[in-house]
Amino acid sequence: TKAHVDACMDGAELNAFITTTFELAMDQAKASDARRASGEVGKLEGAPLGIKDLFCTEGVKTTAGSKILGDFTPTYESTVSANMKADGMVMLGKLNLDEFAMGSSNETSHFGPVINPWRNGEDLVPGGSSGGSASAVAADLCLGATATDTGGSIRQPASFTGTVGIKPTYGRCSRWGTVAFASSLDQAGPIAKTVRDSAILLESMAGYDPKDSTSINADVPDWVGACGQSIKGMRIGIPKEYSIDGMPADIQALWDNGIEMMKAAGAEIVPISLPHTKYALPAYYVVAPAEASSNLARYDGMRYGLRVDGKDLTDTYELTRTDGFGDEVRRRIMIGTYVLSAGYYDAYYLRAQKVRTRIVQDFENAWESCDAILTPTAPSAAFAVGRKVSDPVQMYLNDIFTVTTNLAGLPGVSVPAGLDQNGLPLGLQIIGRAMDEATVFKAASALE
Ligand code: GLN
Repeated sequence: TKAHVDACMDGAELNAFITTTFELAMDQAKASDARRASGEVGKLEGAPLGIKDLFCTEGVKTTAGSKILGDFTPTYESTVSANMKADGMVMLGKLNLDEFAMGSSNETSHFGPVINPWRNGEDLVPGGSSGGSASAVAADLCLGATATDTGGSIRQPASFTGTVGIKPTYGRCSRWGTVAFASSLDQAGPIAKTVRDSAILLESMAGYDPKDSTSINADVPDWVGACGQSIKGMRIGIPKEYSIDGMPADIQALWDNGIEMMKAAGAEIVPISLPHTKYALPAYYVVAPAEASSNLARYDGMRYGLRVDGKDLTDTYELTRTDGFGDEVRRRIMIGTYVLSAGYYDAYYLRAQKVRTRIVQDFENAWESCDAILTPTAPSAAFAVGRKVSDPVQMYLNDIFTVTTNLAGLPGVSVPAGLDQNGLPLGLQIIGRAMDEATVFKAASALE
C-alpha cells in the first residue's frame, strides 16, 4: 500500500519539522539505554517521536507555526510532552503545523507548507493542522507524533496520509502548556502507524492534571488491551446525514466497504439519524474563531515573542500583531470579534452555542441504539498544494465530518481504510461515547 510513497523524497523536502533536536535526542536515547540496562522500561522507552510545535517544550523553541512566536523558547514543558518524557520518549524535534493550528492543509504555517509523502504526480498537502505530524509519521521520519484536534486536525491529516489518528474525549489530555486555539474544543492526541501504536501513545499522553481546570479526573484505562478485541454484537451506527450531496463515489464505496468489514467481524449495523449535522460546520466556524480571538489577545508584543516598537503602546500592539499574524489568523480574529460584538452576539455566537447543545443531544439520542458510529473522515483525499488556499470556504468544507465530535467533546479516530481511484489513502472515522475510547479502539482494530 506504500506504492505511491516516493522513495526519492527525503525528509527535509517534506518540511515536516520546524526544529530538530537530534543532540537532545541522543542524550535522551543514552539515558533510555541506561534505564533499560537497569531493568526500568517506560511505556515509550527509547521510542523516537515528534512533537507538534504547539506543545511547549522547555528550552526548545515552540512557534505554533507563527511568526509572532518565531523565537519563543518556553521555560516550561506541556503536561502531555512531560508525561511522554517521563515514559522514556526520545524527542526528534518539533513538527510543522498550520499557524496556531488554524487550517486543513498545513499551508498557513509561517514556516512554509508541509508536503505529503504520498504523491500523485504533484505535491499534495498532508492535511492540517497537524500536517507535520502526519507527514513525518507516514514517511517513517518518526515512529509516532503528538497532534491536536480542534475541528479535525488529528483525524483529517491521518486520513490524507494513511496513518491512524485519535482525538480522545475532551478533557482526557491536559491542555496545560499547549498553545490555545479554541479552548472548549482543543484536545491533544497521537498520530501513529497502527491502532495499537496510537493506543500506546495515548496511554502516555492522557491523565488527570490539576493544572487544567477541564481535565477529567479519571484513570487511564488499558487501551492497548482493547485493541484487537472482538466487536461481535457491537452496534455500529450509520448516520444518514453524513451522506452529503455530491459525496465522491470512492468515499461512498470506502464507507460501504467499512460497513461490510464491521459486519464480517460480527457487528450489527444500525441506521441512525443525527439531525443537526448540517449546522455543525457553521456553528464550529463561529465558536472556534470566537474563542481564538480571545485566546490570541495575549500576543501583544509585551509578554511573548515578537515585538515591533511603535510610537506608543497602542501603536506597538498594532504593529506587532500586523507583522506577526498571517492571513488566516487575522481572518479568524475578525470573524471571532465580530460574532462576539454587542450587536451580533445573539445572532451568531449565542445561536452557535444553541446548535452545539442540539448536536450534543443528537449524539445522546443516538447512543440509545448504537455503541459506536462509522463515517468517512473527510470528503476528499489529499489535494494539490495551492489548490484551495485562496478559497477559505472550500477549505472549511473539508472539516464537515470531523467538527461534530469536537462540538460534542466525543472521542473519534481515523483509520486508513483504502485508496481512492488515484491510489491515495482514505480514512474512515469511528466516533464513540464520551470516555469510551476502549470501544473506539476495538472498532478501529476491526478496520485494520
Ligand atoms: N481545520 C479546522 C480549522 O481550521 C480545524 C483545525 C484544528 O482542528 N486545529 O479550524
